[in-house]
Amino acid sequence: MESRVAVEEKLVVRKKFRDRFRVALVYPNVYRVAMSNLGYRILYHMLNNDDRIYCERFTYDSSRSLETGSDLRDFDLIMFSYQYELDLVKIAEIIVRNGLFNKPKIVGGPCTYNPFLLKPFVEYVYIGEAESKLQAFIEAIMENREDEEIAKIEGIYVSSISSNVTKTYPHILDTFLPSLQVSSNYTIFGDALMVDVSRGCKWGCLFCLGRSIYSPYRERSIDQLIQTIGEGMVKGGYSSLVMIASDLNNYSNLDELLEYVEKLMNYRKFKVIAPSLRADIINEKLLEVLVKSGEKTVTLAPESSEEVRFRIGKKIRDEVLLEACKIFKKTGIKKVKLYFMFGIPGETIEDLKTIVKIIEEISKLGLKVKVSANPFIPKPHTPLQDAEFEDPRELREKLKFLKKKLGKVLTTDGVKQAYIQAIISRGDEEIGKLILEVLGKYGVFSLKLLRREMEKIGLDINEYARWGSPEKPWKKIKL
Ligand code: SF4
Repeated sequence: MESRVAVEEKLVVRKKFRDRFRVALVYPNVYRVAMSNLGYRILYHMLNNDDRIYCERFTYDSSRSLETGSDLRDFDLIMFSYQYELDLVKIAEIIVRNGLFNKPKIVGGPCTYNPFLLKPFVEYVYIGEAESKLQAFIEAIMENREDEEIAKIEGIYVSSISSNVTKTYPHILDTFLPSLQVSSNYTIFGDALMVDVSRGCKWGCLFCLGRSIYSPYRERSIDQLIQTIGEGMVKGGYSSLVMIASDLNNYSNLDELLEYVEKLMNYRKFKVIAPSLRADIINEKLLEVLVKSGEKTVTLAPESSEEVRFRIGKKIRDEVLLEACKIFKKTGIKKVKLYFMFGIPGETIEDLKTIVKIIEEISKLGLKVKVSANPFIPKPHTPLQDAEFEDPRELREKLKFLKKKLGKVLTTDGVKQAYIQAIISRGDEEIGKLILEVLGKYGVFSLKLLRREMEKIGLDINEYARWGSPEKPWKKIKL
């Protein structure tokens, strides 16, 4: 059934599409998630700044474009965002459902660092950050250049010919950052202006994909941030300002930035949101600004017990976590969201007990606690890329234990979803083909159907989940 999300939006780009190169920007998740992604917004405005192009948005719940209600088949180029493993299934589904096999398609986003699964259903994969070479790629498509030529563009993986590709990224981060961004009330942050203060991370957590793919650590200049935030918050009239960084406390000019944001808050009221912080460097001024703006929640990712946490490179002691939470409480923060993983190699039930204990101690401080716990999935290009994904039976037992101890405080995506993610995360071309086959044959995707198709050709699904593809193809991609 054809559908179009009907949401009141601001700052939508309106153009006539006749005689323009039409780009469909597809986010394979629901509108609320899509519109909470800064990369999606940057791309939309970056492409629409070119008068020859009209870029329109599609989300998983909007099979017609949000701008003009057009059909995906009406576009000259289809671009997909690939943010996490299960998006791959949705991308394949959208291609099959809409019969897009003869359209040029490119996929970009953090999960493209293993592009080999995409090979059976898309022509191009963008490996790196869009600001660097996306315009060169689109130019090449507009000029109908041969794939051999396109493969010479840095970061572009051409499914029919590429094997080794090196990622591409802007070395200096003062790249295009729109101050007047498309937005609506129906995002995770409400009607918000989003800015990325930095990319990459200075820390060395061994499991972290973000650190590997966005390295080296780069910051936006304070001048660019002040200019963007000032113009955006005054002219755009957003209700919130979201400042994205792997750890905002680390930003070199944080004091100056906060001083400016505070001044703006005196001029008009808005909420300041910092989606993730580290517990070992707490900037009280930042907390003060958050609380003053009306934001009462902070998010920390302790990941595991102290012992396992140190082993996987996140060297933060439990006492430091507790100390940070005491400061939160003191400054007026009411709620803490905590992210954990379980099933990390070498972890035992004792580790889970200490996880429960630290959560209880944080609750005792009088803070409302929400916990998200999901199985550890080894990611390509991280130091733990060859680690084992734990046996699902073990994982289920561990999850049962956590649920029993934590009750309603705990949310999880569950073991089954993690199992599919594990297969895709370190999968290969064969897995991509099988996902496409399942969708073509049955019209839907499920783990059961994938298992059935894998068994038919003698592939052991458990081994794929546990260790990934025996060929480990992603190792050919250079970050
Ligand atoms: S988990 Fe967080 S702190 Fe650790 S490397 Fe990744 S982004 Fe940095």
